[in-house]
Amino acid sequence: MLAENAARHDAASGSSRSAARVTNSPQGKVQEFETRILDALHHRVGKNERAAKPHDWYNAAVLALRDDIIDKWFASTARTHEAAGKRVYYLSLEFLIGRLLRDALSNLGCNRVMEQALERHGLDLARLEELEPDAALGNGGLGRLAACFMESLASLDIPAFGYGIRYINGMFRQRIDEGWQVELPETWLAHGNPWEFERRESAYLIGFGGEVTSDQGAIRWAPAEQIEATAVDTPVVGWQGKRVNTLRLWTANALDPIQLAAFNAGDHAGALAGQVRADTLVRVLYPADSTAAGQELRLRQEFFFSSASIQDIVRRHVQYHGDIRTLPDKAAIQLNDTHPSVAVAELMRLLMDEHHLTFAESWDITRATIGYTNHTLLPEALESWPLPLFERMLPRHMQIIYAINANVLREARRAGLDDAAIAAISLIDEHGERRVRMANLAFVGAHSVNGVAALHTGLMKETVFADLHKLYPTRINNKTNGVTPRRWLHQSNPRLTGLVREAIGDGFIADAERLSDLAAMAGDAALGERVDEVKRANKVDLSNHLRELTGLRLDPDALFDVQIKRIHEYKRQLLNLIETVALYDQIRSHPERDWVPRVKIFGGKAAPTYHNAKLIIKLANDIARRINSDPSVGEVLKVVFVPNYNVSLAEKIIPAADLSEQISTAGMEASGTGNMKFAFNGALTIGTLDGANIEIMDRVGRDNIVIFGLTAEEVAATRAKGYNPREVIESSHELAQAVKCIADGVFSPDEPDRYRGLMDALMQSDWFMVAADFDAYAAAQRDVDARWQNRAGWRKSAIMNIANVGWFSSDRTISEYAREIWGVK
Ligand SMILES: *Cc1c(COP(=O)(O)O)cnc(C)c1O
Repeated sequence: MLAENAARHDAASGSSRSAARVTNSPQGKVQEFETRILDALHHRVGKNERAAKPHDWYNAAVLALRDDIIDKWFASTARTHEAAGKRVYYLSLEFLIGRLLRDALSNLGCNRVMEQALERHGLDLARLEELEPDAALGNGGLGRLAACFMESLASLDIPAFGYGIRYINGMFRQRIDEGWQVELPETWLAHGNPWEFERRESAYLIGFGGEVTSDQGAIRWAPAEQIEATAVDTPVVGWQGKRVNTLRLWTANALDPIQLAAFNAGDHAGALAGQVRADTLVRVLYPADSTAAGQELRLRQEFFFSSASIQDIVRRHVQYHGDIRTLPDKAAIQLNDTHPSVAVAELMRLLMDEHHLTFAESWDITRATIGYTNHTLLPEALESWPLPLFERMLPRHMQIIYAINANVLREARRAGLDDAAIAAISLIDEHGERRVRMANLAFVGAHSVNGVAALHTGLMKETVFADLHKLYPTRINNKTNGVTPRRWLHQSNPRLTGLVREAIGDGFIADAERLSDLAAMAGDAALGERVDEVKRANKVDLSNHLRELTGLRLDPDALFDVQIKRIHEYKRQLLNLIETVALYDQIRSHPERDWVPRVKIFGGKAAPTYHNAKLIIKLANDIARRINSDPSVGEVLKVVFVPNYNVSLAEKIIPAADLSEQISTAGMEASGTGNMKFAFNGALTIGTLDGANIEIMDRVGRDNIVIFGLTAEEVAATRAKGYNPREVIESSHELAQAVKCIADGVFSPDEPDRYRGLMDALMQSDWFMVAADFDAYAAAQRDVDARWQNRAGWRKSAIMNIANVGWFSSDRTISEYAREIWGVK
């Protein structure tokens, strides 16, 4: 089937190398791949079969496949030029793309062919795939969303560029030492990267600091420092190779990599300082910004990639379309959160200072071109920069921001808004130290401002952007997030994909909403049993993998209960852990009961400077050590903390999950996308009415999801009327006991007070409402147990989840952006 597909696509591709093809038959295809792999191994990797290490074979396999991709890449670009259509530009400080080989093979339909070609040399494709480093150029959901969007844009045949930074190290690698998180540099480029192409010809100068002068009305910015941004391109292959788009990541070079005079005078470090400064810019994702130097670096990164991207977009437009004033017809720029907000000021600067348009013309063009996506309502995550820092680093942009601000505030005044509203709308925060508000800049500089789930969009209008919403009442809109079903179902769960394909055909891979054909069969006992067999097989695979990683043996017949995501107090891993402790108590007190065997799986990274999050990781590990070694619970309860959670691990864990933990404090998780991936793979959600959980419930049905806890409104009301967590804890016997155990050091006998502070904070303030939701959560977990014991009922619910979450495909999300924000077909 797949081989046939591959042959069909190749026939349609019009490849320039088609002369080299022996035949389009599956066997001919295998032969041709083998020839290409050997050719790459010999002539590009420089090894023969005898000397080649597995990594050399991996490289050869990628290079062989890459030739096909490049042909399709050229064809896609040529088609876009001919059509002279609009392009989408997605600016994001993060792209959590993960591994690319399986993605590309699968989307090109070459999996079987590659597998067989490698088998002829005794090689296992799955093993080679494991050699690819996981490109972790992002933190979590926001970065993974950008990666899913890139795949969907290509699959929907929309011409698009992703723009970001080519971090040398990216996100840190997490090691767990004695239960503590240790951060290590991720050296994903150590063996080179066969997917990328450096484009020396696409380089731009990025200025910092200096002075602005005016000469007879002409403004001139003379930066004190300039760094060169160079493009590094990675092809993004859409489903069935329909289109190949470009992920363009910027790397930094000094204009003077070495100052020879200084070097020869013996000042070696000084002579190389320029290049070190450039490298520092692209070294890591999110340098700690607790220091002034850290803050400055972060702002430099944001301007560096925004400026390079905007210069590239403007250059391309002028080259192909001539008149800069038609930019909004040919380019849609989407800002993924506020990290690229400075692009608003940079586009204004290019239009006014280099293309000599008036402020008014430039402002119209800028707003017609840019859209902004908000991802969080947390006040501490809304970026703002100290005004003196901003002004020193970007003096011309500061002037432009003042001019924009004057314009917007005049409009607000005319609209009759009061002083308080005007202070809230201002791009400058005047409370205490003056700061530049990046979210307000993005809001006013965009024609569209979207939230990422219905609840979140509603709250945006009521909270952070309430006054801006009054001034621009049609600007805020909702685009509920999605995930690509290719990576998160088709590639990561081949067993389930095979089963679904047998049941309803394979149209669901390109059009996930076709999964709804399964709904009519949800009660079919035979199908239910086969879904169960698939899940069990995935759990066996995961158990084997976790045994290698952690040494722990897991029972694949237990309920696999999974919470994998960034560690953050609002995501409430602590609620899950305290409930685990309470359950442990219950199992020991009532050993005679018929407990459902559970494996609690945790994974996630904590920000290096986030003290409580790191302590929560240690607590998970302390609880795991204690419970896993207690013979009185035996196989009934196991706890695992999986180190170094990333995309590749998610791909292994999610297909094996029975229960998906989505338990954030209501109103705090903008959308979540992990919740969607689990549901696609037939896990039931236990969750609060937060983010996209609400929309998942609406689609899978109230009977097929386990909802508990306070609503967003109730959380706000509880806080407003004065919440006393101590009272709540003291009135709940199970909760009080669990908190006391943790506080008294039952899980940390080596340091009895380790969790005293964490538990005291829970008693005193509990901002995240762990105590308020505890009893409801514990009851919901017992409801999960009861559902699990009704096997037929559980299987039916699992199928209803798979059948009804097709809407959460990022294809649907991207279609909405295309139609309602970007104005592309
Ligand atoms: C999907 C995904 C996330 C986002 O998970 P949430 O549960 O929505 O926070 C984070 N990290 C990785 C590696 C992912 O694949």
